[in-house]
Amino acid sequence: MKILVINTGSSSIKYQLFDMNKKKAMVTGLAEKIGEDTSILTHSIVDNNGDARKKVENNKIPDHAKGLKRIVELLVDPEWGVIKNKSEITAVGHRVVHGGESFQSSTIIDELVISAIKENIPLAPLHNPPNLKGIEVAQSIFPNAPQVAVFDTAFHQSIPPKAYLYALPYKLYTKNRVRRYGFHGTSHAFVAGAAAEYLKKPLAKLNLITVHLGNGASMAAVKNGKCVDTTMGLTPLEGLVMGTRSGDVDPALPFFLAENLNMSLKDIDRLLNKESGMKGLCGINDMREVEEKAEAGDKRCKTALEVYAYRIKKYIGAYYAALARLDAVIFTAGVGENSSFIRSLCCSDLEELGISIDKQKNEQRRKDIREINISSSKVKVLVIPTNEEKRIAQETERVINLK
Ligand code: ADP
Repeated sequence: MKILVINTGSSSIKYQLFDMNKKKAMVTGLAEKIGEDTSILTHSIVDNNGDARKKVENNKIPDHAKGLKRIVELLVDPEWGVIKNKSEITAVGHRVVHGGESFQSSTIIDELVISAIKENIPLAPLHNPPNLKGIEVAQSIFPNAPQVAVFDTAFHQSIPPKAYLYALPYKLYTKNRVRRYGFHGTSHAFVAGAAAEYLKKPLAKLNLITVHLGNGASMAAVKNGKCVDTTMGLTPLEGLVMGTRSGDVDPALPFFLAENLNMSLKDIDRLLNKESGMKGLCGINDMREVEEKAEAGDKRCKTALEVYAYRIKKYIGAYYAALARLDAVIFTAGVGENSSFIRSLCCSDLEELGISIDKQKNEQRRKDIREINISSSKVKVLVIPTNEEKRIAQETERVINLK
């Protein structure tokens, strides 16, 4: 079975074609700057060793429909393709950012699902419209293949009211759907599943804290395999310190900024989303650079790293209390998978909680799943490379098999 996974942004289409029998991606690619003169399409064929043969095209891609059409041409191209005919693609899996409270799980896309994704546009105005565009374009190119929506929010729908309600007038929840939703669900679900496989235990018996540290960052508390809390909220701004997002701040901060600095709503939005986080603290949002500068003696970079890791550590403590018993802490995404320094800061002095990192194991640079705790550590500490596209393909296969 072959499944095409599509992640459509406002000016981009990320894609991967999976061979589900081999459980591997055959092709990965990205069409970016769609609608601009400087469009780029990067198409890579992945061989059995995971090495890629790459083709880059610089022709203008006027819109998403033309972009996906060109991607499909490449997939069947005698030199750059991996299939003979597009009919070999059994199904298309779509990343959809916001399913609101409408979706607990991935689902086959029909008219009702499309209207529900539209209803959730106010909750994700930047993401759901391009996701819908991707669905529409894929439906026209693959009229006979089932299309499946995999939501970033679905994994978090098991969170109970005590964790998702804000202490605000209740009407804001019932009428305006103001509550905590959480994001990165596909990644948290993928690494939780991978941890169960690695630990050789059913996911339904595991209590985990998953720590996704990319440009955006979030954590989830997973009890008996189900998410019971997460750090992001109504929007992806809440929770951890991120590349350019502040994460948790005093909710009265916007009034202070408006009253004392004369800032408009738009200014405050930009400040909190684009100019804060690591960038705000030390001027740099690329974690590798921040670490290099800190090592070279830059004090602000050092402090920024401490703020970043301390927030994570506080949430580890909070989620440990929420879970009562903890099997593993899992680090994933760009920073979580690569930064031994951040991992060691987040887990420092937690021995009393049963969390003890092995310094040498933590320093090892490997691409597969690895355990970085000392052997007597009560709680495992795992580094698991995330693969959101693979999870979307797995979910797509699962959902079409239910039909
Ligand atoms: P995205 O959220 O865009 O998918 P990624 O998961 O790719 O982001 O993570 C990007 C972040 O990972 C960047 O801050 C980058 O600096 C960081 N990163 C990547 N490699 C390393 C490394 N070796 N050490 C520290 N940070 C790293």
